[in-house]
Amino acid sequence: MVRLRFAPSPTGHLHIGGLRTALYNYLYAKKNKGAFVLRIEDTDLERSSQVYTESILEALKWCGLNWDEIYYQSQRTHIYQSYIDSMLKNGTAYKCYCTKERLEELKKTQMVKGENPHYDGFCKNIKEDLNKPYVVRINLPQKDVSFVDSVHGELKFSYKEFDDFILQRSDGSFMYNFTNVVDDIDMKITHVIRGDDHITNTAKQLYIYEVLSAKVPQFAHIPMILGPDKKRLSKRHGAQSVLEYKQMGFLPQSLLNYLARLGWSYGDEEIFSMQKLLELFDLEGLNKSPAVFDQKKLLWLNGYYIRNTQAEELLNLSYDFLSQNCKSHEKKYLEKAIEVMKPRVETLVELAQSIEFFCTRPIFYEEKGIKKYTNQNTKQILLDFIDKIKNIKFTHDNFQALINDLASKYNEKVVNVAQGIRIALSGKSAGPALFDMIEIMGIDESIYRIKQFLE
Ligand code: GLU
Repeated sequence: MVRLRFAPSPTGHLHIGGLRTALYNYLYAKKNKGAFVLRIEDTDLERSSQVYTESILEALKWCGLNWDEIYYQSQRTHIYQSYIDSMLKNGTAYKCYCTKERLEELKKTQMVKGENPHYDGFCKNIKEDLNKPYVVRINLPQKDVSFVDSVHGELKFSYKEFDDFILQRSDGSFMYNFTNVVDDIDMKITHVIRGDDHITNTAKQLYIYEVLSAKVPQFAHIPMILGPDKKRLSKRHGAQSVLEYKQMGFLPQSLLNYLARLGWSYGDEEIFSMQKLLELFDLEGLNKSPAVFDQKKLLWLNGYYIRNTQAEELLNLSYDFLSQNCKSHEKKYLEKAIEVMKPRVETLVELAQSIEFFCTRPIFYEEKGIKKYTNQNTKQILLDFIDKIKNIKFTHDNFQALINDLASKYNEKVVNVAQGIRIALSGKSAGPALFDMIEIMGIDESIYRIKQFLE
């Protein structure tokens, strides 16, 4: 059985890149009827916070990426310690007592010689326990190492390029490269999909697998997400956190669909429901080159999913974005308004704003529209309209005939008649079909608003 994991460090909110990593791991696990493990990598107590952990869990839940198991590294220190102890015993790790000052000095000398700063193995051969603070370092052999990555193919490294990196800090806390491997082994992880900024870490980690005689998982290092300026996506490029996207009125399925395609392809197709992704996602489709984040495309997808979601569900989803006025209306009324407005918006925030005029009578009337569409005839036309609309059977044809009749009776353009009514009803010269507006608001409310306009 395959087992995949998402292993965020709770040092910030879940961002777009993290969500994509989580999604790919989730998809691969679920497609292969395996387990999706969530592991909170909170060993760095100074930088980790419970607030971020909660926020990451909330974002994953909002997206429906439900985990089968959850672990917190902060609760597993006894496991890491026992591995450290056995590595110290068999000499694959050693205690390093070098002081900060010595390491600074070393770095300076190496830089003067034009070398890359690296630890020189000074403490490697100290056999007895000195009663001094120490870090635990890996005892890296001078040899070559390689692995076959699902995205990049074979990657080769030489441990000569790395120094004996630290596994445990002097305060007893453990380093990422160590706990990450111990857990992947302990949790029987079979595949690791993560950002390609971790490739060098993987090279280092391979030696830990070797000394612990553990099977190495299949790695797939996915390229970074770039901003439109081709630099790594960051705060500078606007919203980053997944929950910010929720606040901006995005649906989780548009975000997931967008991120699925940002770094993975399946022909020219763009629309992928979760169900379809669960059928089709594979490691072969992962792209090698970085993907550029395109907010416009995400908006387009969001519009697509809004159009294809039932009004009832949209009402639930956008409820928090509605004004108090809207919230005081009946659900059925709001759903009808949503139904006519949904093809015209791209976010739930826009959707909530777009139905506002159905709930709140206009206070202002768009000046540009008044200038363009009204004249000395308008008042008489509107009074006549109020009079007639009460007495017709309200159908499309009858309504259209009424507008046409009024236009010819007052020798006015049809558009001026219709737009005059629209502005009186909504305050604006743009909106959904006039017939739909009146049908939803009702004849009485429409008459009330027109009278208010004429006052
Ligand atoms: N905690 C690491 C991170 O957030 C996990 C990397 C990994 O997936 O191994 O970058």
